[in-house]
Amino acid sequence: MKYYSTNGQAPISDLEKAVVKGLAEDRGLYMPEQIYKLPQVFFDNISDMKFQDIAYNVASNFFGEDVDEDALQDLVYDTLSFDCPVVKVKDNIYSLELFHGPTLAFKDVGARFMARLLQYFIRMSGSEGIAANGTVNVLVATSGDTGSAVANGFLGVDGIHVYVLYPKGKVSPIQECQFTTLGKNITAIEVDGVFDDCQALVKSAFMDEELNKHMKLTSANSINVARFLPQAFYYFNAYARMKALGKADNLVMCVPSGNFGNICSALFGHKMGLPIQRFIAANNANDIFYKYLQTGCYEPRPSVQTLANAMDVGDPSNFARIINLYSKNGELTPEETHQSITSLISGATYSDEQIRETMRQCYEETGYILDPHGACGYQALVDGLKPGEIGVFCETAHPAKFKEKVDDILGIDVEIPERLAAFMRGEKQSVPMTKDFADFKAYLLQQ
Ligand SMILES: *Cc1c(COP(=O)(O)O)cnc(C)c1O
Repeated sequence: MKYYSTNGQAPISDLEKAVVKGLAEDRGLYMPEQIYKLPQVFFDNISDMKFQDIAYNVASNFFGEDVDEDALQDLVYDTLSFDCPVVKVKDNIYSLELFHGPTLAFKDVGARFMARLLQYFIRMSGSEGIAANGTVNVLVATSGDTGSAVANGFLGVDGIHVYVLYPKGKVSPIQECQFTTLGKNITAIEVDGVFDDCQALVKSAFMDEELNKHMKLTSANSINVARFLPQAFYYFNAYARMKALGKADNLVMCVPSGNFGNICSALFGHKMGLPIQRFIAANNANDIFYKYLQTGCYEPRPSVQTLANAMDVGDPSNFARIINLYSKNGELTPEETHQSITSLISGATYSDEQIRETMRQCYEETGYILDPHGACGYQALVDGLKPGEIGVFCETAHPAKFKEKVDDILGIDVEIPERLAAFMRGEKQSVPMTKDFADFKAYLLQQ
């Protein structure tokens, strides 16, 4: 499969380059030249298939031309060693629980898949390959969730070393322990600064010639095709489980969205033939996409901090992919593109006060504990579902990941799953760092 850039100014790429580079030379996002429809027989039999097998079919539709069949199967099975159940919350509203992976959030799947795909290319590439000889170093800046998913996804994958940069004192203790206690090929770097300082250090490192001669650097950014596409597996599984319940005829899929990678993978699934009637993108107070749907104007703004902080994004990267998907490669005018997007996707936006109220009401009414991100998705279905429709929202993180907030809002003591408790018992190890690039560079040059 060939990959082109959403900015249209970069050379066409193959999968290996798209995965290793992440972003195209013109700073656009990579898109596959073709999205093949899956055969009808796959959808006919899907409700009898297990998650791994469904995912393998989807993966092979995307990556089958570029990755050896056995390796791809091994990769998918290794990535999906956990379940992704659909749970009825009330009436016609179901929760798709994406939090049963190693760090209890949906980013686990993309992170692990990307780690294993990168490893595959390291092993396969000859002397010409980008990743041939020597360790590949992944740099990732995090405000919490991404760091834990990437660190755990790459843990123990040989040939790759991960540096997680995080702002000192700005990450919750539960999040911090998920990437500072791992050891092995994971190094946590505690930066005396804010998240933007961490991101600036990573960006400077990628642009520094001396450093790039010294070591092979790559990112594990969520715009990477190997990180966002595998999330499509979730939506095929949701359809399968709903079909098994006899409830798949009029499905509305609702995705709490920040950088729009997750919903974008669902839209790729739709292009592959997944029979979802329509989609809802649920936002917190960062309502840039919601406004776009209303007005047709895309006006990025600095993000504001909310209870659902993994969705605090003021300029969602994957917006460019969504526009590209529905503009027929630029043939449609912006107005036509907007129209085709709004005929399939609607939006919702919730303030922190509404998120709190939703969490309380849902818990009182049904006993189901929502996390602040899932709460946006649930409420968008309560508000937006039409008669005869069945709604499935993504519960993107386990409520225990945001225990301080959830306990406070619901007045309960959320149980911490054993996997998370195990991280908390581990010993924290991190490298203290200033926000001065010269210090970070000197450190990396010694590695
Ligand atoms: C990352 C994240 C989101 C937002 O997903 P996007 O793909 O960035 O839209 C929502 N909820 C949680 C818990 C997350 O970690």
